[in-house]
Amino acid sequence: TVTHTGLIGLGTMGAALALNIAEKGFPIAVWNRTAAVTRAFHAGAGELAARITPTDTLEALVQAITPPRAIILMVPAGQAVDDQMAALAPLLGPDDLVIDAGNANFRDTNRRDGADLPFRFMGIGVSGGEEGARHGPAIMAGGPDAAWAQMKPLLQAIAARAEDGTPCADHMGPSGAGHFVKAVHNGIEYADMQMISEVYGVMRDGMALPAADIAPVFDRWNAGPLQSYLIEISAQVAAAADPIGGGPILDMIVDAAGQKGTGRWTAVEAQHLAAPVPVIEAAVMARNVSARRDERAAGQARFGAAKAKITLPLDDLEQAMIAGKILCYAQGFAMMTAAAKEFGWALDMPAIARVWRAGCIIRSSMLNDMAQALAEDPARNLILAPFFAGLLDKGLPALRRVVANGALQALPLPALSAGLAWFDLMRQARGTANMIQGQRDFFGAHGFDRLDGKDAHHGPWGSPA
Ligand code: NDP
Repeated sequence: TVTHTGLIGLGTMGAALALNIAEKGFPIAVWNRTAAVTRAFHAGAGELAARITPTDTLEALVQAITPPRAIILMVPAGQAVDDQMAALAPLLGPDDLVIDAGNANFRDTNRRDGADLPFRFMGIGVSGGEEGARHGPAIMAGGPDAAWAQMKPLLQAIAARAEDGTPCADHMGPSGAGHFVKAVHNGIEYADMQMISEVYGVMRDGMALPAADIAPVFDRWNAGPLQSYLIEISAQVAAAADPIGGGPILDMIVDAAGQKGTGRWTAVEAQHLAAPVPVIEAAVMARNVSARRDERAAGQARFGAAKAKITLPLDDLEQAMIAGKILCYAQGFAMMTAAAKEFGWALDMPAIARVWRAGCIIRSSMLNDMAQALAEDPARNLILAPFFAGLLDKGLPALRRVVANGALQALPLPALSAGLAWFDLMRQARGTANMIQGQRDFFGAHGFDRLDGKDAHHGPWGSPA
């Protein structure tokens, strides 16, 4: 058999991906900066070792691969990718392809793609963590059509499959499009996780439910419209016992969330695009606040702990989550529509929803319905798709009750309330920015448009009406 594929970086993701590739019948040559890691990886590859060629130098790696070569980089995003590309440059030619499969910022991928490289280049977003990489991730590819055509058989073979059998790997567009879509995926991931943690907080602090009683609630939701990997694992997180103290492990975990920054990138890019993604922004904000434990303790000492007593039915929480989730995804897809316009990409919204259906962290049954609604009209905001408008009719009253009760009783619900505020703006035909335009004209002579179309573009400031 001939080896056309190589992989650099046998860390958590690279090792899992290499095994997945070998398992699907593609021979692969591998190289790692620390050679001992390569040898240990090969020794531990079992029967797949026969399809894996371990190499000790970059030269040996390149020689072990028959053109047309495709070399996948699975090293930390940033400088390591630039360094590896520079090291490969003298060894590769114009028919060879280098694929950055790490969590690159899409602006870096655009920059690398635009540079004068001696080889071809593409950037792919890989989601699903180690388990996904090993048994089937979701893959969002960006790069030239020819590079996608070359890699499609391999990438679709190793990817997760949706229930209807479609592989969750697709071409998003040129240059940084794949990494961009992956970043939005991660932003939505932050938002989904935050909304789950908020309703967990309502149950824990507002309803005094112990973790053992919260787990079955998530389990029940997982059998309905909220069916998703994140709800499923939340049930398991709530159910797990502390191996040391014996109580729920959830009650022992420090309440400060880590982050690698991809959610923040999404929020920052959304600001660049003037695309409103308040649920994602709230989720990033909440993680940042979570890290400030001392300040929060001081806040509680001064202002007192919330003594909440929420008497809403659990069904309200489920309906609020359904509405919040729709609002969040509507914002995410609208952000991608804005990016497609800004960067000249033909992002295929239904295809993105389909790729997210399996393998990735935000996989959920609702993405099936989103793919369908987006296929009806990709440019229409998801909240206006009849199917989701119907779900919102049902979920919004509950979302209002949950957010209102949270506000009155000092239970923080930043993501759910940000979603609701956005929705109420989005359904208000006559907004309040006429006041802002009046103020801007008053102090800065910025002018304004009139509703009647007549052209008095400045105000009569100083002369009372
Ligand atoms: P690990 O830390 O497990 O592995 C990093 C790998 O990169 C190691 O093989 C390491 O080699 C190598 N490496 C580190 N620095 C350099 C360098 N300067 N030059 C060459 N090789 C280097 O990372 P992960 O596998 O978790 O992550 C890899 C990429 O995948 C990242 O971009 C990450 O953001 C992304 N990703 C990770 C996910 C996850 O769940 N972990 C999910 C999705 C994407 P050595 O053995 O010599 O240290």
